[in-house]
Amino acid sequence: MKGGFFDFKRVRRRFRSPLVTGVGSIDAVDRVLLRCQSETGVGYGEIAPWPGFPSETIDQAIEVMRSAQGNLSHLSSTVQASRAALPCLAAALSSCEHWSAIAAYDGELPCAGLVALSGDDAPAKIAAGFQTLKIKISATTQEPSIREIFSLFAGQVRLDANGSLNLTTARSWADFARSENRVEFLEQPLPIGHPGYASLGQDKIALDESFLTPAGNDWPGLVVVKPLLAGDWTELRAWREQRPGPVVYSSCFETVIGRQAALWLASLDENVGTIGFDTLGRFEHDARDRHAGGPMARGLADFDWDAFWREIS
Ligand SMILES: [Mg+2]
Repeated sequence: MKGGFFDFKRVRRRFRSPLVTGVGSIDAVDRVLLRCQSETGVGYGEIAPWPGFPSETIDQAIEVMRSAQGNLSHLSSTVQASRAALPCLAAALSSCEHWSAIAAYDGELPCAGLVALSGDDAPAKIAAGFQTLKIKISATTQEPSIREIFSLFAGQVRLDANGSLNLTTARSWADFARSENRVEFLEQPLPIGHPGYASLGQDKIALDESFLTPAGNDWPGLVVVKPLLAGDWTELRAWREQRPGPVVYSSCFETVIGRQAALWLASLDENVGTIGFDTLGRFEHDARDRHAGGPMARGLADFDWDAFWREIS
């Protein structure tokens, strides 16, 4: 975006109940919503770092935006020059740049249901029609609890350890995944950069926290792409066109702005598959989720984005 100016608003979103992952529980997240205006029109973007992912922090992103003093060219050139360190800002600017296409997106993509093993998440998601379930596991999860889920429906299961396993438990879950047709993959078994990935092998192992942007990533197996963390989207799409095999698109608990943009980006992939965007309805009501939930994730056409922006205090 050439010329123009920008404004931003910081929002805090508190989970209704803490989100539990293999590495701990998360009570709330901060996001920054970005509004850009240039000769090509108005665009929106969202800066949405996620705990455990090595992007810039919200405070670092805000510092960069404050330094640019509302000047969009200044912000764009700063982010372009430091884009490896500022992947969330680069993604948010990509969203602003493509906003007219993003706002018009009204397609739908199949979505995996996110379930916790405790409670009755799984039957509820199955009853709602989800064909794929994504289950968070930790070092204390037992295989029978996963087999129990198999017995409830006929679909596929994705296991996500969020880097919480050691090499022994990671091997055992990798063996489980490879011996069970109904396990689609095991996501991020080991911490970022763990040398054990070399011996674990790539079959049915997906990297999430270890994959931030395509730059410098040479994992030949599955990767989970969180569009809002993935840096510049033109670079992301160029990488994707060269890359064979599936890529899994995933949410990082965006507001309506980031979700609409991320769904649009995922929809551009001809081999998009089932996405991981079952993140609605998890925050205390703040009117910042506007899409409908369910096993098909749909774009939100005919939404008044300018009114949404004005309502954010
Ligand atoms: Mg994950």
